[in-house]
Amino acid sequence: MKICKTISEFKNWRNSNIHENIGYIPTMGALHKGHLSLVASSKLHCDKTVVSIFVNELQFSPDEDFEKYPRTLEQDLKKLENHKVDVVFIPETSEIYKSDFSILINELDLSQKLEGASRPGFFSGVTTVVSKLFNIIEPSYAFFGEKDIQQLIIIKKLVLDLNFNIQVVGCETIREASGLAMSSRNQYLSDQDKKDASILYETLQLGQNLLKKNETVGETKLQLKSKLQNNKKIKIDYLSIANSTTLEELRDNVKLKNEKVIISAAIFFNDVRLIDNIII
Ligand code: AMP
Repeated sequence: MKICKTISEFKNWRNSNIHENIGYIPTMGALHKGHLSLVASSKLHCDKTVVSIFVNELQFSPDEDFEKYPRTLEQDLKKLENHKVDVVFIPETSEIYKSDFSILINELDLSQKLEGASRPGFFSGVTTVVSKLFNIIEPSYAFFGEKDIQQLIIIKKLVLDLNFNIQVVGCETIREASGLAMSSRNQYLSDQDKKDASILYETLQLGQNLLKKNETVGETKLQLKSKLQNNKKIKIDYLSIANSTTLEELRDNVKLKNEKVIISAAIFFNDVRLIDNIII
């Protein structure tokens, strides 16, 4: 497995693999089975698989966990080696953002909703770094998790709007046996909290059942909020039932017909921010 720390090192490798189908998985490290499932999809579809590990400061607000975000590089590299990844790109911040860096890539619509409303600047950081990484890696395919469904939708739009010649592939959310979606931030939770936090997925599943039983969006939301609020360790950031293309909230009096919707939520579980979703 080749490890590249600089853009020029990576470009050297890329130039000698110019005709290969490159599959690419951008990550922030602290790798778990969710990340590794994206690697497995890439290995299945592509000649060569590239993973980047880069904790992107630009997508963290000053009051978020950039400094204490889990960094487990040695274990990450072992996992990637075991999964037969071809190249790992692990640039320093200064390699990606020069001191006079002054251009951002901003999505203006989808990025204002849900995660974007709660975390101003977050998607600007994501679309900017992903654009830069796409230009560096020049992949044929890029793999993103449905766990971060809004991010996946925005990256698909980024590729369309900026004419990247890249196929974006969405991969299903990998979960613990309890149903809790795997996340690097789960490391902040105790074992008991991890068990209790599975209530987030249970709540989304309840939402799916209610909507399928013809309950209105408004009544469904009330029941889901009340289920979450029963647990004193939980503070709801948002709970959404939205159109899966526009991310517009469905009106309270709507009953589901054939449209594709996303039920999503962000909660603070003992101050650890968790997100999850179900696509119906
Ligand atoms: P991150 O390192 O959190 O930036 O995530 C890197 C990629 O892994 C993103 O495309 C995520 O959506 C994806 N990912 C994270 N957790 C999971 C999961 N539990 N299942 C599937 N994909 C995931």
